[in-house]
Amino acid sequence: MAQEDVFKKVVSHCKEYGFVFPSSEIYDGLGAVYDYGQNGVELKNNIKQYWWQSMVLMHENIVGIDSSVFMHPTIWKASGHVDAFNDPLIDNRDSKKRYRADVLIEDQIAKYDEKIEKEVAKARKRFGEAFDEAKYRETSPRVLEETQKRDALHQRYSDAMNKMDLEELRQIILDEQIVCPISGTRNWTEVRQFNLMFKTEMGSTADASMTIYLRPETAQGIFVNYLNVQKTGRMKIPFGIAQIGKAFRNEIVARQFIFRMREFEQMEMQFFIKPGTELDWFKQWKQTRMAWHQNLGFGAENYRFHDHEKLAHYANAATDIEFKMPFGFKEVEGIHSRTDFDLSQHEKFSGKQIKYYDPELGESYTPYVIETSIGVDRMFLSVMCHSYCEEQLENGETRVVLRLPAALAPVKLAVMPLVKKEGLPEKARQIIDDLKFHFNCQYDEKDSIGKRYRRQDAIGTPYCVTVDFDTLQDDTVTLRMRDTMEQRRVKISELRSIIEDEVTITSLLKKLKQ
Ligand code: ATP
Repeated sequence: MAQEDVFKKVVSHCKEYGFVFPSSEIYDGLGAVYDYGQNGVELKNNIKQYWWQSMVLMHENIVGIDSSVFMHPTIWKASGHVDAFNDPLIDNRDSKKRYRADVLIEDQIAKYDEKIEKEVAKARKRFGEAFDEAKYRETSPRVLEETQKRDALHQRYSDAMNKMDLEELRQIILDEQIVCPISGTRNWTEVRQFNLMFKTEMGSTADASMTIYLRPETAQGIFVNYLNVQKTGRMKIPFGIAQIGKAFRNEIVARQFIFRMREFEQMEMQFFIKPGTELDWFKQWKQTRMAWHQNLGFGAENYRFHDHEKLAHYANAATDIEFKMPFGFKEVEGIHSRTDFDLSQHEKFSGKQIKYYDPELGESYTPYVIETSIGVDRMFLSVMCHSYCEEQLENGETRVVLRLPAALAPVKLAVMPLVKKEGLPEKARQIIDDLKFHFNCQYDEKDSIGKRYRRQDAIGTPYCVTVDFDTLQDDTVTLRMRDTMEQRRVKISELRSIIEDEVTITSLLKKLKQ
């Protein structure tokens, strides 16, 4: 199946099976805002639990908080968001569509990359085993020509972004002859800066009201609570503060379903360390976070680091963990070495001392910070895309199955009476009453067993049990596995231990190499 088709199918599957709905759908929706349905919320909660427990339970020196969405507006002055949390936007006069100028140029760079890779792939096919890829890249005139164009564009783009030279960004778009994908024309407006923060008013009277912002990241809630947590928790450096919460960005172009939303959720951890140790900790957190992703079993080849060449003014190292989505490798998580920028800024703007007294050194300093920041929704999307599968069965039918890691699946066990009578429903409910304290179970008695299996496959339920007349005699059931469709007869009393080993977040955490 073409990757584009996979993505379309995932989007419609999310809707059809109660994972993700467009927000306010009966009013025709609201751009880039989505709601999670009955299965989506379970999957999302499991992702959050996996992250939270891997941070807070697995590390003695990491604790969590839950700070508010509304914060004092000066916080966003101090953090730099009021002045600099901007994207360069450009409109096409014919289609009236708005784009991010930087994204248009990055897409153009990706086109050069694609051309180069196509050339290399063609040559690989042509030369077979004898193919020397490195040599080919160095000597093929066509590859060299495209690489030169790509590198020159990349350099020009980096320079323009570093200086935030809006005229130059527009000129690049014109010189590269980039067209609007809707109108197909090059009738572009000027490039303008657009601040991504949502504003609202707090206070009941016009005079006394103040403009506040919906937080565009959860991190600042951690920084402004650094002293509270450090003192009340008697935390010693190095230590971390973790938080999961909503963030809001008025994204210019909202594309690709839940990949870029205006209201989304982040899982962030700020790790406070001694200045000078940041590059070691940065390296360590890169490994720890990559191990967390790869522990889901989606294959190491689907992940890569993308180190930032252009660093934010406060960072001295930054990387993204990218996942191979159907629309290419895309950022799911950012890991940043933020120096002492945030705490120093808050010290300056609040006038309060924000330091750490190091008892071993006998001196105080402003801690440095390593941040790990992952979007719940992007993680959700990567899990859905990787798990969606259409299988051709021997009888010619197609089976749609979500091969979710069992620990993330919304429903762990479906219990089905073979028929809706003669005591079978009651027996099935007895099994659920026993197991529902341990994991999420679902009762299903409608339609044929085959249809019920398919329904559970489509939402990724790893186990189904069927209660039949033998069950009433010997307390055994048929246990059916989602991935292999294998069935075996097991005792009801064994169900809990068989399933629990596979479906709990604990089972996933135990596999993690810390
Ligand atoms: P991008 O370059 O894609 O806009 P970013 O670099 O601005 O992302 P960060 O500010 O580093 O993102 O945010 C950390 C994480 O939050 C990202 O890795 C991503 O998973 C998530 N995230 C950021 N913006 C959005 C959004 N609009 N919708 C969904 N998730 C988002």
